Amino acid sequence: MSQVGVEERKASFPGFTEEHDMIRETVKRFVRAEITPHAAEWDEAGEFPRELFKKGADLGLFGIRLDPDWGGSGLDWWATTAYIEGMSWSESGGVNTAFMVQSDITLPVLDELGTREQKQEFLKPAIAGDLVAALGISEPGGGSDVAAMKTRARMDGDDLVISGQKLWITNGVCADFVILAVRTGEEGHKGISLVLLPAKTKGFSVGKKLKKIGNLCSDTAELFFDECRIPRRYVLGELNRGFYYIMQNFQGERLAAAIGALAGMDRVIQHALEYGLERSAFGKPVRQFQVWRHRFAEHLTNIEAGRWLVYRAVDLLNRGQRCVREVTMAKLYCSELCQKVAYDCMQIFGGFGYTTEYPAGRSWRDVRLHTIGAGTSEVMKEILAKEYKI
Ligand SMILES: Cc1cc2nc3c(=O)[nH]c(=O)nc-3n(C[C@H](O)[C@H](O)[C@H](O)COP(=O)(O)OP(=O)(O)OC[C@H]3O[C@@H](n4cnc5c(N)ncnc54)[C@H](O)[C@@H]3O)c2cc1C
Repeated sequence: MSQVGVEERKASFPGFTEEHDMIRETVKRFVRAEITPHAAEWDEAGEFPRELFKKGADLGLFGIRLDPDWGGSGLDWWATTAYIEGMSWSESGGVNTAFMVQSDITLPVLDELGTREQKQEFLKPAIAGDLVAALGISEPGGGSDVAAMKTRARMDGDDLVISGQKLWITNGVCADFVILAVRTGEEGHKGISLVLLPAKTKGFSVGKKLKKIGNLCSDTAELFFDECRIPRRYVLGELNRGFYYIMQNFQGERLAAAIGALAGMDRVIQHALEYGLERSAFGKPVRQFQVWRHRFAEHLTNIEAGRWLVYRAVDLLNRGQRCVREVTMAKLYCSELCQKVAYDCMQIFGGFGYTTEYPAGRSWRDVRLHTIGAGTSEVMKEILAKEYKI
C-alpha cells in the first residue's frame, strides 16, 4: 500500500519545491523521534515538557514565514504547509496545537504589526523558543462574537490598565506573554485594540487549566486581569484597530487549521488501511470487505477534494490575493470531514480503537476541536453566506 496522499501531492501541486519536501521530511523525522513515542504518555500526564518548544525552535519551526532579521526564515505558505504536514506524524493533537499557536497564530501578528522594540523584546526570543506566546481573544461571555468582548483597558498617563477575563486560551498556563485583545474604545468592533501583556505583569493570573476531552497535553487556560498596568509602547499596531487585525489574522489561523485537519486525515486513514490489512475476520483482512473498501474509497475521494480546496487557498494567500471564501471553505470542509474520517478509522480498529493506547482513539477525540476552534463551523457558514450575499 503506497502512502496515501503524499506522493500524489508532490506530483500534482507545483507549489511544492524540493525545499518544501525537505522541510516536510525534516519535520516528520523530528516529530517521530521527539514526539510520537511520547504522545500517549503526555496525553495521560496532561502536559508535555516545555523544552520541546526549544527543540522545535532549533529546527526553525516558529519563524517559517517570518522576518529573518528576527530569526525567521522568510519562506512562503507552501513551507508552512509542509511543516504542518510533517507535524501530523506526531500523532499528538495537543503538541500540534501548542506549536501552531506559537508558529501561526501569535507570532505572525507580532511580525506584521510590531515595532522594532517589540520585536526585539518578544518576537526574537519567541522564534528562538525562549518565550512562549498565547493569543487571548475569547471570553466567558462569548468567543464567536469577538466584537462583544468585555475585557477593558483604560489609559492612565502613559500606561494602559487592564481588567477582565479570557477563556479557552491555548498555551495560557505556560505562556510568557499574551497577545491580548482589549476594549480601549466604544462598544462594538471599533473599540478593540491588541496589546502585549507579559505574564509577569502584576495583577495577571491563570485561573485554572481547563479539563478537556481531547488535545489533552495542550494547556487551555482561564486568564484573569486585575488592574494590570502595561506601558503604552506595548500596544500592537494602531489603537482601536484590533478587530481588523484579528479578522486578518484569522485567515492564516484558519488556513493552518485546515491544513492540520487535512494532514491529520492522511495519517489516520493510512493507519486504518494498514490495520485493516493486518486484522482478519471471517477468513480475510477486514479491509477487503466491500463495505470497508467502499467507505475508504469515499473518504479518499473526499480527502482529495479537501486537498484541492486547501491548496487553492494556500496558493491564493501565498500570492497575497483575497481569499476569504477559499480559506473559509477549506476550514469548514476539512473540519467537518475529519470528524467522519476519524470516526470510521477508529471503527475499523474494533475494541482496540476504543482504548487510549491507539492513535485512532486519540485522533477521534482530538479532531473534535476542529469544528469549534478558530471559528466554529456555524460561523464559517455565516461568513460564506455573507460573502455570497445569501
Ligand atoms: C481547546 C480550545 C482552544 C482554544 N484556544 C483559543 C485561544 O488560544 N485563544 C482564543 O482566543 N480562543 C481560543 N479558543 C476559543 C474558541 O475560539 C471558541 O471556543 C470559539 O470561537 C467558539 O466560541 P464559544 O466557545 O464562546 O462559543 P459561542 O460563541 O458561545 O457559540 C456557541 C454555539 O453557538 C453557535 N453560534 C454562535 N454564533 C452563531 C451564529 N451567528 N449563527 C449560528 N450559530 C452561532 C456556535 O457555532 C456554537 O455552536 C479555544 C477553544 C477551545 C475549545
